[in-house]
Amino acid sequence: MKVSELFYSIQGEGKLVGVPSVFVRASGCNLRCTWCDTPYASWDPEGDDLSVDEIVRRVAQHEAKHVVVTGGEPMIMPDVVALCDALKARGHHITIETAATVYKPEIKLDLASLSPKLSNSTPWEREGGRFAESHERQRINVPVIQQFIEASPDFQLKFVVSDERDLSEIEQLLAKVTNWSPADVLLMPEGTDAATLSSRAGWISDVCKRTGFRYCPRLHVELYGNTRGT
Ligand code: SF4
Repeated sequence: MKVSELFYSIQGEGKLVGVPSVFVRASGCNLRCTWCDTPYASWDPEGDDLSVDEIVRRVAQHEAKHVVVTGGEPMIMPDVVALCDALKARGHHITIETAATVYKPEIKLDLASLSPKLSNSTPWEREGGRFAESHERQRINVPVIQQFIEASPDFQLKFVVSDERDLSEIEQLLAKVTNWSPADVLLMPEGTDAATLSSRAGWISDVCKRTGFRYCPRLHVELYGNTRGT
């Protein structure tokens, strides 16, 4: 698996916010979000090809029980199943962070962190729009989202929102998916600096009070700013 970075930090988003975790960032993605905050794992994938044994060896250098397999898009990596098997065998708690466009029935995980991409992600302008059509075609896959929900011990649906129009899109998507509750839905402001995040906090928290969805802070931006490997 090509890995752009592997580091020990604090989970900054979602149901496990604040939990010390090792992050394994797979490099490569089938999508190209215009605002992607890890372009070194999507638009310009960097990193080294590491064997499953080598990844597990590096994870073991840290104290954490929790491992977050993220990206990029980890679910398109051929050896993601073998990696999760090996981590599970060592007693780790595994979160997979995915855009939920690809599912593998053999995957072992504890928390499926599903982040379907809204239309605000489509790169109509970036790089002359050359990825826009394929991104638009792939960004939502309702059967895959449903498979993750049915098969995972726990899941969360995490949406990056930039304005109030995003909400109707989220509600349209949720109407097509079953077996979720409002507490499984997390709304996360789009932005990679504290000022942008806080400018969106007011109306997003109002939406959460009305719907029962959860407001999802980006703790790692507060703690470290938008820096790699944190
Ligand atoms: S799915 Fe994630 S990694 Fe891929 S382009 Fe979008 S934000 Fe970046």
